[in-house]
Amino acid sequence: MLSAFRPSRHGSGRIRVSFEFFPPKTPDMEVTLWKSIERLAPLSPSFVSVTYGAGGSTRERTHNTVARILRETSLKPAAHLTCVAATREEVDEVVRAYWEIGVRHIVALRGDPVGGVGARYEPHPGGYVQVCDLVKGIKAIGDFEVSVSAYPEKHPEAASLDADIDALKAKVDCGADRAITQFFFDNDLYFRYVDRVRARGITIPIVPGILPVQNFRQAANFAARAGASVPEWLAARFEGLDEDIETRRLIAAAVAAEQVIDLVDRGVSDFHFYTMNRADLVYAICHLLGLRPQGAAAERAAA
Ligand code: FAD
Repeated sequence: MLSAFRPSRHGSGRIRVSFEFFPPKTPDMEVTLWKSIERLAPLSPSFVSVTYGAGGSTRERTHNTVARILRETSLKPAAHLTCVAATREEVDEVVRAYWEIGVRHIVALRGDPVGGVGARYEPHPGGYVQVCDLVKGIKAIGDFEVSVSAYPEKHPEAASLDADIDALKAKVDCGADRAITQFFFDNDLYFRYVDRVRARGITIPIVPGILPVQNFRQAANFAARAGASVPEWLAARFEGLDEDIETRRLIAAAVAAEQVIDLVDRGVSDFHFYTMNRADLVYAICHLLGLRPQGAAAERAAA
């Protein structure tokens, strides 16, 4: 496995990355987010996306974060948007407002049930019923690039992986340009999923969503909610490190590096990182992938 860390194999410059952030709730969180954006921006991501809180709870904050990214950086923002708790007109209004400020990429999602994960999903009366309709609605408003979700281990509500892939096919038929996966820790799951997706005639990019494990307990909680499995070997690597932040950080970097390098070795060139608004680990992984700062940051470093 050590041979996978030879930088020459991964410095080809063909790697493309995108970063996902969530809108900050407090002034302190805002500072953390912006420090992270400033640190990661020189890596020239293809886009940076900003999530939409459950039940549309961050409508304003998502918009404000996306608008600030457009105003203060040269990054291309992608705004997440869900069908939950809003009429079509309200959702369309959000889409039009994005178009007006110059946003050209939306991550279109159904969203979780208003009662939380596990509750029964009820479309809002007068709202978009399915993501497919939302994708069509967005495309009707402007020539947006639209990304959608994909689930290598199936969405918890899907009857089977085939049913889930049918749902992805429907989203593609409605105009989705790219799918970003739920995070996973076992790369074989991703490759088996992509094989099945391709066999179903889906040709859009299926970009792996990577969650660098900064905090194992938190990641395991996310995974339980998202229907993602946590391999025993991963739990074993973080065992006994709850109070040992320094070692945990080193292990986290090694685990994430191992995952992305294996993906690269098996032909993956696009990565979407769930940053949790933290830059260090993601920056290190990107460095390992051969990405180097461009522009002013690179000039400062060289001076
Ligand atoms: P869909 O693609 O419509 O559904 C996913 C699968 O669930 C389908 O393939 C289908 O098989 C099954 N399914 C859906 N509805 C039903 C049903 N009624 N009966 C049976 N099966 C069904 N959530 C947010 O709130 N905000 C975000 O910003 C956000 N960003 C995300 C980004 C990514 C990359 C991913 C992977 C997820 C994100 N989510 C976000 C989570 C997402 O909203 C939830 O997983 C939600 O439960 C499903 O939304 P979806 O768009 O994936 O749904």
